[in-house]
Amino acid sequence: MHKQTEWVQIGKNRDPETGAVSFPVYHSTVYQHPGAGESTGFDYARTKNPTRSVLEEAIARLERGVAGFACSSGMAAIQTAMGLFSQGDHLIVSLDLYGGTYRLFEEVLSRYGLSFSYVDFQDPKAVERAATSRTKGIFIETPTNPLMQVTDLSKICHIARKNGWISLVDNTFMTPYFQQPLLLGADVVIHSATKYLGGHNDVLAGLIVTGERDLAEKVASLHNGIGAVLGPQDSWLLIRGMKTLALRMEKHQENAGRIVQYLKQHPGVEEVFYPSLLPQSRKIQDVQASGYGGMLSFRVKKAEMVNPFLSSLQLISYAESLGGVESLLTHPATQTHAEIPEEIRKRVGVCDRLLRMSVGIEHPEDLIHDLAQALDRSLSNITRRG
Ligand SMILES: *Cc1c(COP(=O)(O)O)cnc(C)c1O
Repeated sequence: MHKQTEWVQIGKNRDPETGAVSFPVYHSTVYQHPGAGESTGFDYARTKNPTRSVLEEAIARLERGVAGFACSSGMAAIQTAMGLFSQGDHLIVSLDLYGGTYRLFEEVLSRYGLSFSYVDFQDPKAVERAATSRTKGIFIETPTNPLMQVTDLSKICHIARKNGWISLVDNTFMTPYFQQPLLLGADVVIHSATKYLGGHNDVLAGLIVTGERDLAEKVASLHNGIGAVLGPQDSWLLIRGMKTLALRMEKHQENAGRIVQYLKQHPGVEEVFYPSLLPQSRKIQDVQASGYGGMLSFRVKKAEMVNPFLSSLQLISYAESLGGVESLLTHPATQTHAEIPEEIRKRVGVCDRLLRMSVGIEHPEDLIHDLAQALDRSLSNITRRG
């Protein structure tokens, strides 16, 4: 079956009693047992809910894993998966990381005795250098946010496996439509399903998928024990969003390609970041993924351009998320990456002139028109002053 078909069919033929094509929302938190020592498979909704199960089985299949777990947010998914580690454990983490993940690691989990080293996974030797006798896991985002640097998943997951570390990959940017990390050697995949999987900026959700039984049982116990699970209504909304993922990802990517070409030749833009632009990243991306996605960043020439540019946007929203049908633009240094200390931020390249765009599925000419007028206005602002 083609992947486009797989996504559309989520939840179909799962309610034979009624033949419902859209799987129903089960609000019941409790399920009656047919007899002593018997169960329908459901007993209490934190452990298992029928609507959530349809979603969980779908994401497990789409990521080519053995079990899926739906959580109340992407952060809840990361927190739940981090329950695989214990006091004293050390993890090696992508340097260029989602700000909220950095905050969870440094402000919360560090108090529970976990420690983290942030490395540039483009250099596999840096991973070996960061390893200690207490290293138990690696946490990867690829392409990185916001600089779109690509990590060679096979290579890094192989190092993890060789050392007996658990490898976790945050696959939010690519989705399993473009990239399936478990097939490349990862142990656990995590999503902020709030982004592309949901796709409509209207549901907060997270997902975990494990690649083998042993880890699946551990995560099932953590999921139930911690209890940060996704409610039935939100599970249903997420299923509905996922049915159109294939169409949306193709359009996000097509529009992003057009905008990259436009921005590259604009005199107000110094540099554009997209996984296909750096030859080294492109080579890896072409092997491990089937697309480049809908996220891009760019650096404007002067810091004074940023504010007039943002306030001149008319169609594109200045807002702090990604992956939805509407185009959004953020200023990472003051928004998504504000939690990351300035020194690390600058070392990574997230400077004050960097802007990140989540390209929506509008007509690309309308998006380019909006970028053009806002860039022209911000440029004339500095020349007038200058
Ligand atoms: C948004 C995001 C998260 C956090 O997910 P929430 O659903 O907002 O809790 C984690 N990782 C990445 C890459 C994200 O973009």
